[in-house]
Amino acid sequence: MASWSNDLTRLSAQTRGILDRGGGLFIDGEVRQARSSLPVIDPSSNQAISSIAAASAADIDAAVGAARAALDNPAWRDIGPAGREAALHRLADAVAANADVLAELESVDVGMPHWMSRNLDIGGTVDTLRYMAGWPTKIAGQTFDVSVPIPGSEFFGYTRREPVGVIGAIIPWNVPLMLAVWKLAPALAAGCTVVMKPSEEACLSVLELARLAHQAGIPAGVFNVVTGTGREAGEALVAHPGVDKVTFTGSTATGRRIAAKAAETTKKLTLELGGKSPQILFADAELDEAVKGVADAIFLNSGQVCVAGSRLYVERRIHDAVVERLAAHADALPLGAPLAEGTILGPLVSARQHARVRALLDTAIGAGAQVATRQDPVADVGNYLRPTILSSVTNAMEIAREEVFGPVLTVTPFDDLDEAATLANDTDYGLSACIWTSNLSTAHRLARRLTTGKVAVNTPPLPYPALPEGGRKASGYGRDLGEDAVAGFLETKSLLIRLR
Ligand code: NAD
Repeated sequence: MASWSNDLTRLSAQTRGILDRGGGLFIDGEVRQARSSLPVIDPSSNQAISSIAAASAADIDAAVGAARAALDNPAWRDIGPAGREAALHRLADAVAANADVLAELESVDVGMPHWMSRNLDIGGTVDTLRYMAGWPTKIAGQTFDVSVPIPGSEFFGYTRREPVGVIGAIIPWNVPLMLAVWKLAPALAAGCTVVMKPSEEACLSVLELARLAHQAGIPAGVFNVVTGTGREAGEALVAHPGVDKVTFTGSTATGRRIAAKAAETTKKLTLELGGKSPQILFADAELDEAVKGVADAIFLNSGQVCVAGSRLYVERRIHDAVVERLAAHADALPLGAPLAEGTILGPLVSARQHARVRALLDTAIGAGAQVATRQDPVADVGNYLRPTILSSVTNAMEIAREEVFGPVLTVTPFDDLDEAATLANDTDYGLSACIWTSNLSTAHRLARRLTTGKVAVNTPPLPYPALPEGGRKASGYGRDLGEDAVAGFLETKSLLIRLR
């Protein structure tokens, strides 16, 4: 039988070296040590494999000070649009050149299967950097002919788009490098400087990104990474008066806490929060592709994806057949150590997350949900959980309302488009949705009725750098990716000039 724990002897010498060194803080272009540290746990074995620094409020103050100074440093302030474009391309080149190491770091830190870390995570990171490199040269204001009621006078007006300033970026653990760059790349495109706090569960790739940015010639202080807990490092960053805007990706509960704290210093805010995204499957869909697509949309990264399609609504006449086919598909997905060849699903990120998902599953089963998939235990090490399909679920049940962030799909039948729209929108969240149908009219009519930031038709909701990502309702506000993300890091200044 395959070993469930990552075989760390297979790691490259460079990755091994990073683990052996452990992570410090990256402030003002150099690695600094903090007073205390936190362990890095491999989710496939729950063994400590490295350590990271736990930043204090004093460390956050130093990082924000470096970012403020960098904002006024001519090496960054006066670099110009073409300079920022070139810097982002150099960073993209550096990430691409170090893709193998970064992918290994993600796989041992988060438990992300290597095929995903190497392709979607690191590949998506490079694509985002290159896409955002196109923006600095396209940022523009407007000109105005101005009428002021002063006889004989003449005025001219225009607007300038200027960087917001110092950005405090706080990100979760599920796809660390890609989510870091969703914040970093548009912020740098706009001319801002950044202090980033990754999740204490997964920091290694983000620290490596900071080192690569420095090597790529991005001036010291422009991109700082402070690791540590949310309660200490995160809250100190949100409260710091030297931070102009906080951009946060994470859970809705933390987002609400951050919004309240940020209001005390009138900070601007972008919140990318949790989801409970519906998938709606019509009987006219191409079923072979739809079954695989529905499974991909929920089970990618073991369900630890913000846009995971965790609630499936199926047209009633195909409900039983779909549950059976989905269960067979899910049971056949190769579960294994993240670094092992052929693994499609890895473990959950932590023992805590595993226990949380298990508890939600047990409550659902107690409330009458039927398990359609295999239920035997997976492994005696690591945080493994089988992909699980639950039928006989109603929207009133906790499992259909709470974000699970694990490999769990609930299935509920519907009779017509109206009912599907009502069931899909019956949630506190509004992040994403998938529609599976071969009828174009059905797809468009339903898509416009869904109160979500994104709708994918006949595909899982894969990210693309030009398409904004973000939520409505309890899923937050503001957007990552696309032109909207760049706009989120820009202020508008109006200029009025008297000509005579
Ligand atoms: P989390 O909210 O627990 O933590 C996210 C980050 O916030 C971490 O860096 C954490 O240290 C920090 N933090 C915690 N408490 C804080 C506080 N009081 N002040 C400041 N910072 C604090 O989320 P998580 O468990 O790391 O990630 C999973 C969540 O992220 C899920 O809800 C998922 O849906 C969400 N997510 C959303 C998107 C999106 O684009 N909408 C993308 C990925 C993940």
